[in-house]
Parts: sequence; structure tokens; C-alpha cells
Amino acid sequence: MLDLFDFTVCEKCFAEVIRPDADRGVDLARRFAPTPSVLSSGFTCHLYSDRMRRVWNEAASTSNLDHLRQKISERRARERELQTKRAQLQQQARQLKQQADMQEQLATIAMLTEMNRASNNILLSGIGVTYQVDSYHVAVPSGVVSLISFPSNR
Ligand SMILES: [Zn+2]
Repeated sequence: MLDLFDFTVCEKCFAEVIRPDADRGVDLARRFAPTPSVLSSGFTCHLYSDRMRRVWNEAASTSNLDHLRQKISERRARERELQTKRAQLQQQARQLKQQADMQEQLATIAMLTEMNRASNNILLSGIGVTYQVDSYHVAVPSGVVSLISFPSNR
């Protein structure tokens, strides 16, 4: 829009909204550039949503350019807010992923410890040891201790 360069509209919306309004003699609609132009930086169509089309209709019916200008700056502020919010959520997601990875590692260690304990129990029961103090220590009958710990002594 010539008076409001921030206000950009895609070809489809131009055909659906702006051109019909211009044909009906709506003042604001006639202030658009007569030919479409390719914009270098990314742009968003401001008439994509029903809400913005209502804003347009309000402004157009009263020829109130300031109203349109204000709504557009509100929309920009809201977009920035959402971008900030999205960045925060992405950061949170990364942290949650790190926590989950760490918990998975801890679970793996716990599982390996349990497997080690079970395999020790099988080995020990094979040589007649039945009492286990904890995952790492067993009480063994005398005579068997040296067999386990120092087999080369015999
Ligand atoms: Zn559009």
C-alpha cells in the first residue's frame, strides 16, 4: 500500500478484497500500488486472516488509515511476542531433552548393575555361595573366599 508500506497483500487477497473495493470506489483500496511488486525481504500477507480482513473493512469503510496503521503495528508486536515465546519453548524443549537423556543413562547404569548382580548370583550359586550382602559383596564360606579372590594361591 503506497501510504502504508508495511501493509502488504498477496495477489490472491488483492484480487479478492482490494480490487473489488477499489472498483467500488473505496478510497483506501485505491491507494495500493497499481501493479504487484516483488519484495526483496520476506513479507506476510495482511489480509490472510478473517480478522485482518475485518480490520481492513472497518478502516476502508471509514477511510481511516490511522486505524489500519495502528492495527498493523499491534499485529507486528504480537508476531514478535509469539517469536519470543517460541524461542523460549524451544529452549525448554532442549532442557527437557537433556534431562531425559540423563535419566536414560541412569536407567541404563541401574540395569547393567542389576544384570551384573544377577550374573554374579548365578556364578556364586555355581560354587556354593548363597548369601549376598549387596550388589557388589558376597559372604562366602571360608575356603571358598581364596578360591574366588586368589585362585593362583592354591
Ligand atoms: Zn493473502
